[in-house]
Amino acid sequence: MGLLPEKVLNEWVIIMAPRSTTSPLILKKGDITPFIKKLTHILTVYGPVAKKTQFVFDEISEGSQLRLDYDTTILPPKKYFIPPQEEMVRFSLSPQLNITSPLEESEEATLWNGKRFVIVGIHSCDLAAIKFHDKILTQVYPDPYRTHRRERGIIIGLNCLTPCEESFCKSTMTLSSTEGADLMLTELHDSYYVDVLTETGQLVIDYTKSLFSSASKEQSKSVEQLLTSREDTFPDLIPEFEKLPERLQVGYEGEMWARLGNRCFGCGACTLVCPTCFCFDVKDRVELDLNQGSRVRNWDSCQLVDFALVAGGHNFRPTIPSRVRFRIYHKFWIEPEQIQVIGCVGCGRCTRTCPADIDMIELLTDIQEGGT
Ligand code: SF4
Ligand code: SF4
Repeated sequence: MGLLPEKVLNEWVIIMAPRSTTSPLILKKGDITPFIKKLTHILTVYGPVAKKTQFVFDEISEGSQLRLDYDTTILPPKKYFIPPQEEMVRFSLSPQLNITSPLEESEEATLWNGKRFVIVGIHSCDLAAIKFHDKILTQVYPDPYRTHRRERGIIIGLNCLTPCEESFCKSTMTLSSTEGADLMLTELHDSYYVDVLTETGQLVIDYTKSLFSSASKEQSKSVEQLLTSREDTFPDLIPEFEKLPERLQVGYEGEMWARLGNRCFGCGACTLVCPTCFCFDVKDRVELDLNQGSRVRNWDSCQLVDFALVAGGHNFRPTIPSRVRFRIYHKFWIEPEQIQVIGCVGCGRCTRTCPADIDMIELLTDIQEGGT
């Protein structure tokens, strides 16, 4: 296969970007509400909010809606960069052929002209997934639509201090991911400690600076200790995770795929909630007047029966076992071959969502142990 595990490891180390080079700041919890209010004057603001017993990323108009104490969200924030449904072009035939695309928007998106948005409170695993898309959707499958949205997004990350159920981010080495974030928050008693990671982050701070104060040396030391001590509180549930691509080489014909296939319903939920999955289907829609229409892309799933169905009726993966196997090989073998990064950030959403109780930690542990 030609993949060196160390190569994968090195890429993950790059993802675990350094802390702020400018002086860290403090935002008191009581100032979150005025902070969000001020941001809504110039940006569309998204963040985690409660939805019954779970959490979702949604638009926020008031700081009181924001739930930075969330564990995980049903869908990852990728929906703001790759929406579930997206119009790619719109066309009309009369009075003459006219084709428009959102990519033709000529006005540059600045902090001040209402064309940018900010997502507040993204956890490290989801930051790593955004970084993963930054790579694969520029280097392997360049996606101008995603790039267009990505350039407009400002990211405020949030360090996790307690593990959430079903996740294995310590094993995927995404627990400390900060790359992609413009600001990074760490909860510290009655405040948030703020690392400023980019120029855009600094612009946000400049705009709201009356709400921030400089962090003291003691506060910096406390955060350092918190981030170091969490290495002990987060379990390494899949040791030698980076060796999965190597270990998959031996099991392509193994019976485990048939066993998993017998349990899987082929519903596709695991891929729809996954922060690293990015497949879509393209459809043309023509209005009833036959004069105008649009080309639209929708999220798709390799677990659905018609995903690999081609003209002429041939289906490259007609059975559920073949589709389950494809999903795992794509994430843990093909993607590391393409960009030297494994396509799983350990968020655990697939396990939480699966109606057949297929558990990603168990599945990967089986592979690690040579399961066939
Ligand atoms: S495969 Fe599962 S655990 Fe891994 S990133 Fe996707 S949803 Fe999260
Ligand atoms: S969510 Fe579970 S049942 Fe549905 S396709 Fe994924 S593995 Fe199969």
